[in-house]
Amino acid sequence: MSVRTPVYLDHHATTPVDPAVVEVVRETLAAHFGNPHSAHAFGWAAKAVVDRARGQVAALLGCTPAEIVFTSGATEANNLALKGHAALHDRPGRIVTTDLEHESVARPLDELAAAGWEIATVACRPDGRVRAGDLAAALTPDTTLMSVVAAQNELGTLQPWDEIGALCRERGVVFHTDAAQAVGKVPLDVAEAGISLLSLSAHKFYGPKGVGALFVRARGPHVRLRALASGGGQERDLRSGTLNVPGVAGLGEACRLALARRDDDAERLRGMATDLFDAVIGAVDDVRLNGAAEPRLPGSLNLSFGGLTAAALIRELSVLALSTGSACSSADGKPSRALAAIGLDDEARSASLRICLGRNNTREEVLFAAERIVSAVGKLRGNGGAGGARGPPPPGRRYPVSDSETRLRCLSTSMTFTETCCPSLTTSPGW
Ligand code: PMP
Repeated sequence: MSVRTPVYLDHHATTPVDPAVVEVVRETLAAHFGNPHSAHAFGWAAKAVVDRARGQVAALLGCTPAEIVFTSGATEANNLALKGHAALHDRPGRIVTTDLEHESVARPLDELAAAGWEIATVACRPDGRVRAGDLAAALTPDTTLMSVVAAQNELGTLQPWDEIGALCRERGVVFHTDAAQAVGKVPLDVAEAGISLLSLSAHKFYGPKGVGALFVRARGPHVRLRALASGGGQERDLRSGTLNVPGVAGLGEACRLALARRDDDAERLRGMATDLFDAVIGAVDDVRLNGAAEPRLPGSLNLSFGGLTAAALIRELSVLALSTGSACSSADGKPSRALAAIGLDDEARSASLRICLGRNNTREEVLFAAERIVSAVGKLRGNGGAGGARGPPPPGRRYPVSDSETRLRCLSTSMTFTETCCPSLTTSPGW
């Protein structure tokens, strides 16, 4: 099979910019240099570009354009949501969150804790998902905000945002979700889900880097925030500074494309991830899928290989671009919080590989990746590339392993994760 290497399988870190987005950004840079806040023809032309993008983001999220505040990405949006909420209060209150959050939520919450806020961190279950009931139990009368990631960036697991939204609505609590990994990949409607604040980043779904947005609910109920930076009062006085017009235009186009392609992409990616998983577990012993098989981000797999470190595997797999955990946290070499949260010990954590397929991956690339992973595992286990103690199945045959059948069914499109299928996801109980 002819495959161009390295094959990019790290789409949770970032995605390639879609050619249509590149074209919109290029055209905006070339033709619309005006300041969108200027009251003349050049400003109006730039403002028209921003207005169109605002409408495209709103269409994807199911809100009104006026509820979109453009930012430099999800990190800034998360900071604005959390600290902007806290700044409204004369006295520190209480915030409920989870142990699955990205650093851009966890760190601002640490700062709020240092300023006297009580931060209640609810533990996820071993399947990498929190339960609305556990969050409900953590609510107290003085809780004003709940922050829960929509799709976990290392495990790919989706959180029950509809149930959390209903809970927060009922209890009069502001619901913030960091949806950096979910937006553009799975349907997420802020009205249906009862979300008050939602953070997103364009480069996670084929848009440019350095641009994102915060959805701030205007009605039912109106959500108030205090700006973090003072200045010209742009973005309804919530985010001062001249807008990154080409970036915003690219974000808008990425949202338009996501609406048109998201469901087809998702189906294709789920199929390819199942093929990859099938090929690996058919040939390799002692491999486990971390996090629930469903619901998860389409094309996302987090695998641990018994007795191996992911670092050694990645060295063997230089033809594949994949990661050992979140790209952000692997930069500082910190152990993965999410993998610890689901109860993995040091050994299993250091053996985990994050594989995230994207829109441009082909079936050939996925089969090539599976073949390389199997051979690297075999080599590192001293089997000369045979993939593990079991060795590859004969051509045209799959091993009749009952738990692998369960896993495959768990990974298929329509299967909803149940507690009963979780234990069988581990081929090697005890690590
Ligand atoms: N939240 C999550 C869940 C993420 O995965 C990321 C990016 N890794 C961010 C927030 C931050 O996004 P950005 O770096 O674009 O601000």
